[in-house]
Order: sequence, then C-alpha cells, then structure tokens
Amino acid sequence: MATADVLKPDFATRRKHFIFTDDHEQLRDSIRRFVIKELQPHAEEWEETTFPDWVFERMGELGFLGLDKPIEYGGQGGDYYTTLVLAEELVHAHCGGLGMGIAVQTDMTIPPILKFGSEEQKLEWAVPAIAGKKILCLGITEPDAGSDVAGIKTRAVRDESSGEYVINGSKTFITNGHRAHGIVLVTKTDPDAGYDGFTLLLVPMDSPGVIREKRLQKLGMHASDTALLAFQDVRVPESAVLGQVGKGFYHIMWELQGERLIGAAGSVAGAQQVFDRTLAYAKERTAFGRPIGRFQAIRHKFAEMATKIETARQMVYTTAWRFQNGEYPVREITMAKLYAARIAVEVADECIQIHGGNGYMKEYGIERSWRDLRLNRIGAGSDEIMLEVIGRSYGL
Ligand SMILES: Cc1cc2nc3c(=O)[nH]c(=O)nc-3n(C[C@H](O)[C@H](O)[C@H](O)COP(=O)(O)OP(=O)(O)OC[C@H]3O[C@@H](n4cnc5c(N)ncnc54)[C@H](O)[C@@H]3O)c2cc1C
Repeated sequence: MATADVLKPDFATRRKHFIFTDDHEQLRDSIRRFVIKELQPHAEEWEETTFPDWVFERMGELGFLGLDKPIEYGGQGGDYYTTLVLAEELVHAHCGGLGMGIAVQTDMTIPPILKFGSEEQKLEWAVPAIAGKKILCLGITEPDAGSDVAGIKTRAVRDESSGEYVINGSKTFITNGHRAHGIVLVTKTDPDAGYDGFTLLLVPMDSPGVIREKRLQKLGMHASDTALLAFQDVRVPESAVLGQVGKGFYHIMWELQGERLIGAAGSVAGAQQVFDRTLAYAKERTAFGRPIGRFQAIRHKFAEMATKIETARQMVYTTAWRFQNGEYPVREITMAKLYAARIAVEVADECIQIHGGNGYMKEYGIERSWRDLRLNRIGAGSDEIMLEVIGRSYGL
C-alpha cells in the first residue's frame, strides 16, 4: 500500500462544526479571551457576592449583549449562532450564575421585546439593554405556579378611566430580580378566557408597589441573584403592553423556545468544560502506579461521557440550524433541552466520582459544576414538562 493511502485519525486538532464560519471562530476566541481575563479571576468572589452590574456594562460596551440583535437597535446584526457562541464561551468564567444572568438578558428578555414590542418599547428597553445600561428580568414563575404557566394568578386589571393596568400578585425565583431595571411580566388579564386571557407587560422595577422581597438562597448558581417579588397595585400605562392583549401565553411560549435552546447549549458547554478538567486530572492523578485514566473502568467513563456530550451537541447545533433558517422546531428544541440537561448532570456527577475525595472538595470546583448544572433539569421547564411537550407533539 502506498504511504498516501495510510489514513490516521487526528484526534488533537480543533475542528469547527459546519454551522460555524471562521468569523464565528474568531468571535469565539475574542469572547474566550475576555472571559478568561476579565471574568474568570473573580469567580470565587462572585460565588459569595453575586456578580456585579458592571459586567453588563462591560459586555454591552464590547457588543456581546447584542451579537444577534439588529444593528438599528445597537446590536451586531449577527446570526443566531453568535449568541450560541457566547453561551458556550461564558462557561469559561467558571461561574454558572453569571452565564445565567447574562442569558436572561440576551436570550430571554431582549428577544420578546424585539419580536413583539412597539418601536417605543424597543428604544426604551431593548436599546439600553443591548448596551448593558439597563438590566432586565423575566417574570413567569409564581409561588403557586411554575410548570403550570396557565395557573399563574398575577392579575392586571384595566382601569377604564385612565386606561392604565393595575397589577397585583407575586413572582418567585426571578433571576436578576434584585438588580433589574425592568421586568417582562406575565399577567392574567382575563381569567375567563383560558389561554387567551394572558398579557405580557413591561414594568419598570422602580414603579410604586413593586417590592423586591427576598434574595433567595440556592443549591448552586450562587453568583446570580434570585428574587421573590411582590406587585401591589402597580400601575402601568397601556403602552406597557408587550405584544397583543390576550396573547401573552403564546408570546411567552415563543420566548421559552429561545430560552430552552440556549439552556441546552449552556448544558453541553458546561458538560464539556467539566469533562476537560477531569480528563486533565485523570492523566495526572496516579493510583496503583499509573494515572487513573489508564484504568479501563475510568477510560470507559470518559468514553461514555464524550459520546453523550457529542450527541447532545449535535442535537443543539442541528436544532440551532433549523431555528436560524426560519423553522419553529419546538419538538427538537424540547428534546435538545431535555437531553442536554440530563447528560450534563450525569457528566458532572461522574466527574466528581473520577476526582474521588477531591471531587467532593470545593477547591476543585467540580462539585460547584454539578450544583450549577443541576438547575438545568428544572429551570426553563423541568424534564417532566419536556417529556410532556415531546409526548404530546405525537398527538398523545
Ligand atoms: C435558580 C432558578 C432560577 C430561575 N429563574 C427564573 C426566572 O428568571 N424567571 C422565571 O419566571 N422563573 C425562573 N425559575 C423558575 C423555573 O422555571 C421553575 O422552577 C420551573 O419551571 C419549575 O416550576 P416549579 O419550580 O414551580 O415546579 P412545579 O411546577 O411545582 O413542579 C414540581 C415537580 O412536579 C413536576 N410536574 C409538574 N407538572 C407536571 C406534569 N404535568 N407532569 C409531570 N410532572 C409534573 C415537575 O416536573 C417537578 O418535578 C427559576 C428557578 C430556579 C430554581
């Protein structure tokens, strides 16, 4: 056989996925440099204090909060993959709560404003949010209704004399809730209209009657702030309605698709990051006279994990391609979110095992990855709800 016919696999080269161009890879490098230089050094401190607001301003200044947003509103005019790159690279901050707080801005609140908002709302909220000068939060979940979005009780009643909406109710687990300037709020405007009785409102958080009650303590994602909020006779003008009156349920279901897909991307990136760190550990740590990674039992764990991560990644990228190309791939997004969240937790758990006692120690940061990633099976819709959405999509 001629030498030229001998093909050997090259496992070491970095290979870009076909959805990404060289421009995406350059963007990836510049975000990673920023994250490692300006964010990662503070990760330990921010676990205690939550990350500071200047991160929004700095990222706005660098254009990172508007990568896929239209140029006329201060964005970079990139495609959907650019925001995917951001979500992937933010894991290098080693600070899950930071990635989540930023994603609330970039992929959960700005998108519905740009999609459903009036020109005035885009200028008042989306433009400064893209610039990092206003921080936003999203209010769906309530103390008595999370998975069952239609079961929310927060009421917005129209005052016919002034045309204003008067809001009463409460929201819980709200990421960025303590720092936010505005909230995209899901309210019930007509309790008798079923799914047609919901309306989204854009509410300034300094409105009289908005009460930021408790900063909630959590298992993980410590760098993010999570609020319990109350709304007591909060009055907003009619111009605060985001989208159509009565169509808020459908609007928020649209929003959730972007939230789930970016969550899936974050899960895969988080899993990859904890895998990489554990691989390096397994090559260095020795037992019985050899690196632990050389035991077949451990090697197979890596093989299993790598296969799961790669499967989830392909699901995310293929679904992102559909999203970018104008489809509304709800079933595929739901599958990607479910699978990526599950395997991320499995991978983090296995990485603790491979680290042995060190995996249980804070110093190594592996237990933190597990705690942070654990949220992904609950937030943006739990595993059980994802299974419901997928199952029902087959007419069951
Ligand atoms: C750290 C954190 C940050 C968050 N950030 C935000 C935010 O910024 N904004 C926001 O609005 N929300 C936020 N959430 C809320 C999150 O989206 C909800 O926690 C999630 O949707 C689940 O709702 P729940 O907690 O009320 O659980 P429940 O709805 O009470 O569910 C409890 C259990 O019952 C299961 N279950 C419920 N219904 C069904 C069913 N039909 N079939 C089978 N099983 C079912 C669930 O899967 C779950 O296992 C956040 C949550 C956390 C923990």
